[in-house]
Order: sequence, then C-alpha cells, then structure tokens
Amino acid sequence: MRITDYELFEVAPRWQILQLITSDGSVGWGEVYAKWHYAGETPVTASGAAVDQLLHKYVLGEDPREIERRWEAMYRSSFYRGGAVHMSAIAGIDEALWDLKGKQYGAPIYELLGGAARDRVRLYHHASAEAAQTALDDGFSAIKMSPDRMLERIASPDEVERFAQRVAETREIVGDDVDIGIDFHGRVAPPMVKRVAAALEPYSPMFIEEPVTPEYEGVFPDLAASTTIPIATGERLHTRFAFKRYFEAGGIDVAQPDVSHAGGITETKRIGDMASTHGVALAPHCPIGPIAFAASVQVMAVAPSALIQEQTLYRDDGWKQYLTDAAPLEHSNGYVALPDGPGLGVDVDEAAVREAHGVDLEYQRPIYEYADGGIGDG
Ligand SMILES: [Mg+2]
Repeated sequence: MRITDYELFEVAPRWQILQLITSDGSVGWGEVYAKWHYAGETPVTASGAAVDQLLHKYVLGEDPREIERRWEAMYRSSFYRGGAVHMSAIAGIDEALWDLKGKQYGAPIYELLGGAARDRVRLYHHASAEAAQTALDDGFSAIKMSPDRMLERIASPDEVERFAQRVAETREIVGDDVDIGIDFHGRVAPPMVKRVAAALEPYSPMFIEEPVTPEYEGVFPDLAASTTIPIATGERLHTRFAFKRYFEAGGIDVAQPDVSHAGGITETKRIGDMASTHGVALAPHCPIGPIAFAASVQVMAVAPSALIQEQTLYRDDGWKQYLTDAAPLEHSNGYVALPDGPGLGVDVDEAAVREAHGVDLEYQRPIYEYADGGIGDG
C-alpha cells in the first residue's frame, strides 16, 4: 500500500482538514493548525504550503504504515525544523497516517498505542462569570477563563483587583467543587506575574496557564516557587525537545501540547510520557476543529498523567456539519467517552468539507497595545 494523493480543505471558521488517500482507496484524515492566517485574495496559509512540501518530498509514494519513519523523514530532513509552521504541518499528516493505520487494523488508535488507560476523558469549557452557569447546566465541572484585556507591564492595584474580582465572582457562581483554569494568554507581562498569581491564590484555580509567553521560560521556576497554584504551559511549544527544557528546569505542573501543533499523535504521546516521568499532568490544548479534538482524545486515552482536555467545539453546533455522525464526540456531563470506531473514531463528511472549502474563513489576530501605544501580547 502506498500514499497516492491528498487534499487540504480550508473550512470555517479557521480549520484545515487534510485527507490522505492510499493506493487501495483508503482515506485518512488529519487537522493542520492554520499558521499565518488567511490574507489576501486566496486562503493560503504557511502551514498549508508546508503540508504541500512535506507530502511531496517525504510522504507521497511511501508506505503509510511506517509512521515513525515518515515522521523522522519529515522532521530530520527539514534542516531548519521544529517551529510552529513545520510542526503543525507534520501534525496533520501524522494524524491522517494514524487514522489510516487504525482503519487498516479495524481498531481505535488508542488500541494501537497500548490500549486505554481510562474509560473517558474529562473536558473543560471556556466560560467566565457570565457563562459559568450555562457550562454547569451543560454538565461541565471545569471551566477556563482569561483576563478581559492585557494588563499594563506594571499594572495598578485597581487593574489587578478588577481581574481578581472577576475570578472571585466566577468562584462564587460555580462553588468549590468546580475547577477554574485561568489562562493569562500573554496578557500579563513577566514583571507582574507573581503579584497577579498572589491575588488569585484565594480562589484556588485549577491552574494558571501560560503565565508568561514562551520567550520567558526562565520565569517559570521562580513563579512556581512563589505560588501554590499549579502552573500550566505548552500550547506554543512544538516538540518534545522544547518541553524537555521545561521539564528539566522545573516550574511547570501541567503540560499543554496541542496535538495539531506539536507533531501530531506521535509526538504528543511522547510529550505525555515525558510529562508523567516528571510528575507533570497532561492537559492538551485544542481550540480548533473536530479532527484535532478526536486526535487529542486518542492521546488522552493512553496518557499516564492525563488531567483534562481543552475544547471549544461545544460553543455551537458548527463542527457537526463536517462529520457524518457527531455522536462519538458528544460529551456527557463534561466527559467524552473513548470512541470505539477505527482510527480517529469519526467519519468525516467529505462532501460537506468539500462544499465548505474556502467559504467564510475568518480569524486574524488583532494587535494589542499598551496605554502608550506600545505593542504587547494578547
Ligand atoms: Mg491558552
């Protein structure tokens, strides 16, 4: 069996769905995290271009069963490697190869990775005070919120208090048996991070996520020593080598690789295994589409230190149009059961994906500015 063809579909709101086709007519699906966003007249992303190059150079004409060999070829043969664009492209291809393998053996991917370590995967929902009750009504027992806006480099006591107050209100609404993750999302600069963490201590967050951006990895051990709140990071780390530095330096409690950023199922499983050896929990990032989410569930099924899975699917029903049957990914009381179908466990509706290709694409990251007009992260 050989990989003979592929198509990359760009579908709303900002999802790239990859189809690999083999010589015996089998089809595997993956999701590529869009990198460098839609610009100009045509929907071309850097990760889409990387997919084209990697497939033509290292995958087409090859045996899809040799995932590790294809992965090494795509990674090591790219001399300048490991960045967001490269690893997102590898990720989508890797997911599609695993989907093909699962279908070939008639088994879910987690069976081929060693078998399930749990029955279901716990999920959290994005919700702050205003939406918290809805999340609880939907059955979730964990939510995640962010500061409304970027804090100044050294924020005033009022700014810090406003943010802490929002967390306090949310805690009041959800009670003490619901977990609240707090994603700083680059909105807190390194000089402020300890003070903001201290202000949140009374509300016992599940974790603080990306307390600072990855450029400031040296901040983590200091921050962790100053707070009892578990520290999470990793959505902008793309390889096990990037995670290795954090694990060795200490200062993180929860690793958050994104399966569609960090080299796919193959690399994210490795990161999860490494995390467990350092006593670090795994909570994969996933704010994109149903294929990426399905791939995340496969990794979480076998992860030794699985904590909780991110998703943004359940905000509306948009994702369901791309599947022939949404049932395998529906949650029940904030958990998704391990799908028992082969491969990723979902059937992509090819006709729907084809029809949606290139229509209503959105997502441009805004520019975030401090009060003086200087540029920050957000
Ligand atoms: Mg985040």
